[in-house]
Amino acid sequence: MVWMLDGGKWCQCERCQALGSQTDRNLLFVYHYDQAIKRAQAEGRINRPVRLLFLAYADVLEPPTRPLPADFDYDTCIATYFPIVRCYVHNFDDPDCSKNAAYNKALLGWATDPGRYYKGQVCIGEYYNVSGYKCLPVCYMHTMANDIPYYYGLGVRHFHYMHCTTANWGNKALTNYQMARQLWDPRTDCSALWTDYLAGRYGPVQAEMRTFYGHLEKMLCNVSKLKYGLARRLDTGAANLFPTTHLKYGRTTFEKDDGPDLLEILAYAKQCRETLDAIAKQDLPERIAQRVAEDERLFTYGERTVQFYDALCRAYEAARQSVSDQSDKSDQSDKSDQSDRARAAFRQAEALADLLKADTTSTKLSSSHASAANGLVASYAQGALLRLQSLLGPMAPKEVKLLGANGTPLVLTGEECLGGGGVLHGYGFDVYPARKRVSEHGNYVYGQGTPADRLTGWFRLGDVPAGGLTLTLYGIKCPRPPGGEVAGEIRVNENLVFGARVPLTETGLTRWDLLVSAAALKPGLNRLEIRNTEPNGVTSNRPWFGIDRVELRETADGPAP
Ligand SMILES: [Zn+2]
Ligand SMILES: [Zn+2]
Repeated sequence: MVWMLDGGKWCQCERCQALGSQTDRNLLFVYHYDQAIKRAQAEGRINRPVRLLFLAYADVLEPPTRPLPADFDYDTCIATYFPIVRCYVHNFDDPDCSKNAAYNKALLGWATDPGRYYKGQVCIGEYYNVSGYKCLPVCYMHTMANDIPYYYGLGVRHFHYMHCTTANWGNKALTNYQMARQLWDPRTDCSALWTDYLAGRYGPVQAEMRTFYGHLEKMLCNVSKLKYGLARRLDTGAANLFPTTHLKYGRTTFEKDDGPDLLEILAYAKQCRETLDAIAKQDLPERIAQRVAEDERLFTYGERTVQFYDALCRAYEAARQSVSDQSDKSDQSDKSDQSDRARAAFRQAEALADLLKADTTSTKLSSSHASAANGLVASYAQGALLRLQSLLGPMAPKEVKLLGANGTPLVLTGEECLGGGGVLHGYGFDVYPARKRVSEHGNYVYGQGTPADRLTGWFRLGDVPAGGLTLTLYGIKCPRPPGGEVAGEIRVNENLVFGARVPLTETGLTRWDLLVSAAALKPGLNRLEIRNTEPNGVTSNRPWFGIDRVELRETADGPAP
């Protein structure tokens, strides 16, 4: 394989530019590399045949724009065409899909265009389990039935896909079997193959399972938009969760670029579940029951994933509705309806998140980056839980701590605040590099833009103290590199109380006092927000800072001693 770096940058200097497009330059590199191997073979330093499969992908997807060296060896240098994150709603050659049409155009430029400069062999690298799919039980039976003969018709003679799982196949066994049979004979009658396969695998329930596969294929064919679009937007709390025509929330149809929408996807999932439930009532031979059980386990991972996305969508929608209704004071009951709906959807999302987190088998057994620790990490949307917590506020407003009148401070531990890295990695933190535990119930915030870039704490006041409040924070910082600074903000009810480098140390819990004026406070619920404002944050990485606890007291005669 002759592969450049994924996401690598090409030199912009004049001499390099003069060599042509990125693909032209890549092919020159392949050519010289191949020539060097041939010399080494002639000199007896390499004693085996070597074929170079080079990329037609990403930065070098477009076909070459100028002639190749006359002695470019098409027997040893083979283009591998990778249509990453292509659409599986549509066949590869469907002109009604702009994503695939763009990929198809580039492929024709490599494989068949009469004026093309590359005239050699083409290998297709399909993506039946591209890393972002994280081993979801996607079904490709009709896609493959169309696409593999289509590729063959373009002269393609090599084929593989990323990233095969090595066990726990469930319905993916059909993908792998069908692929082997179609590669052996591209004219394979897939309809007959399915009938034979389903009969052999499922015997008495082959008809039911055929229905199941049909619904499963429809349920997950929009997987690229689900995993690379919606999930990432839920994770970051994007304002528009459904910007493409391929995937909307409710059922919509478009002339082009249309796909199953989220509600349709859920309906297909329900039909799959109903089929499996009906099969479960039958008395089946042990080996058949086990095969259905394997399919069911993997299907459940897919079912929970789409249900999790749905609950998050509903929670965002209702939470935003309730926030925007706050300005419209005329309709108090609508507002509380919306926030009840948002909380109910959030609780459903939390319950599904727990189930996904407990599933540590479905997401394993592929190559490392196509696998994940559990179904929740694999969803790419766990950050949405933090965003929603922050949007929704306390789940039980009446249980929020009240500042007493007797001078006792109100204490909020980091764990009692919503959001933060504690949700992801557990509460409490250490100082580095000693790895000494300095907090058991603290929480911590990563750089700006990460789902865990802020903590939200809630407290209640009877009357607003005339002198305001004193906040005493205890925390540490973990800058990048060590010895540096971490920028942060403290806000009370959106009023900026602090915005600068946080005055914490790296070596142990540091006390930090802040005054909050009475004007920033209100009777009843008050919101305290602690943010990391270092730009371009990366979850689970420096720069972060941790807060063990915040003590709140009335400011009487200046800050507390
Ligand atoms: Zn250069
Ligand atoms: Zn499409």
